[in-house]
Amino acid sequence: MTIEFSQRLKALPPYLFKELDRVRDEVRARGVDVIDLGVGDPDRPTPDHIIEALVKAARDPANHRYPVYSGMNTFREVVAAWYERRHGVKLRPETEVCSLIGSKEGIALFPLAFVNPGDYVVCPEPAYPVYASGTLFAGGKVRHVPILEKNGYLPDLESVPEDVLKKAKIVWVNYPNNPTSASASLDFYRRLVDFAEKWDLIIASDAAYSELTHLDKPHPSILEVEGAKQRAVEFHSLSKTFNMTGWRLGWAAGNADLVKGLGAVKSNVDSGVFQAVQLAGMAALTGLMDPVKAMGRLYKDRREVLEQGLSQAGISFLKSDYTFYVWAKAPEGVSSADFCSRLMNDTGIVATPGNGFGPSGEGYVRFALVQEIPRLWEAAQRLSSFRI
Ligand SMILES: *Cc1c(COP(=O)(O)O)cnc(C)c1O
Repeated sequence: MTIEFSQRLKALPPYLFKELDRVRDEVRARGVDVIDLGVGDPDRPTPDHIIEALVKAARDPANHRYPVYSGMNTFREVVAAWYERRHGVKLRPETEVCSLIGSKEGIALFPLAFVNPGDYVVCPEPAYPVYASGTLFAGGKVRHVPILEKNGYLPDLESVPEDVLKKAKIVWVNYPNNPTSASASLDFYRRLVDFAEKWDLIIASDAAYSELTHLDKPHPSILEVEGAKQRAVEFHSLSKTFNMTGWRLGWAAGNADLVKGLGAVKSNVDSGVFQAVQLAGMAALTGLMDPVKAMGRLYKDRREVLEQGLSQAGISFLKSDYTFYVWAKAPEGVSSADFCSRLMNDTGIVATPGNGFGPSGEGYVRFALVQEIPRLWEAAQRLSSFRI
């Protein structure tokens, strides 16, 4: 029998990081001392008090059974309290919050609840690839909106043609942004809500990096905007904030009907998050924020080290207070791919080619600050003599 993948699977672009891992392993096999700044996965371990909470919860047989699909009531209450504390936003835990097995699963499944075949979903690019793949799985059409340096890496939504907007269901945004590290103001979110009201769109906001900053205040949430709860849902994750990417815990919060639709899809696909992981997540969200603040300062220090190396190599980059990414510009006329392979061959530094996140990322590369400072000094040293 010839096994053939479905049209929807064939429609997907190749998953970027698989190819990167292959090239990195090839260079490493040649004996090069590789400094991997490729994948956006925190290098530091999960803070101890969260691990302790998991161990304790894992020993309790009450947590060994199927969890409540939409999340433990107590988890959802903790999320609602977190929103009130961090953003001054009031949420009803029972209807406006849903736990997720990492935010990626919610982002991927969300269009299945609201997109009919042929509907458009407005997705930024360069971007995390899951907004587009989730849309394609739901039979929707992706309308890309570039986020460009000249616009402060905000989408120019007015550039989307009217006939597309009339058939559009969802607009995705992601700030602080992966891959560019750009941030958005509350004023941008206000304009986005106005725009979505005009065209009757659902706003899906991916806020996975809102706490990754050295600043005292978190990045604003779209839910802070008056009226946003009429049409917006925010996807959140413990992955980057608490170094918990392997644990798989996140949430969706916002408009009750949007949360309900996502929950209905989920209840047919998965059976919720292991309760011990939810209890550990509660320990994270209610515990001292010192480890989170310390990570924010650490990423700032790491950023400064890498920036020194880039400056010495004559490479320009976006200054940012958010995320653990540095978005750097390849020299004029050099493609992302050529820049990354020259970098890998000449310096052993792995970066991600910007065009892997979308055509407007061409000419850029993303560095993830996921190595300790001595290694970043080594990277900066190697960069200082790098010429392309
Ligand atoms: C890492 C990341 C996420 C979070 O993924 P999880 O599934 O929660 O681990 C979501 N969005 C973006 C843009 C990311 O970079």
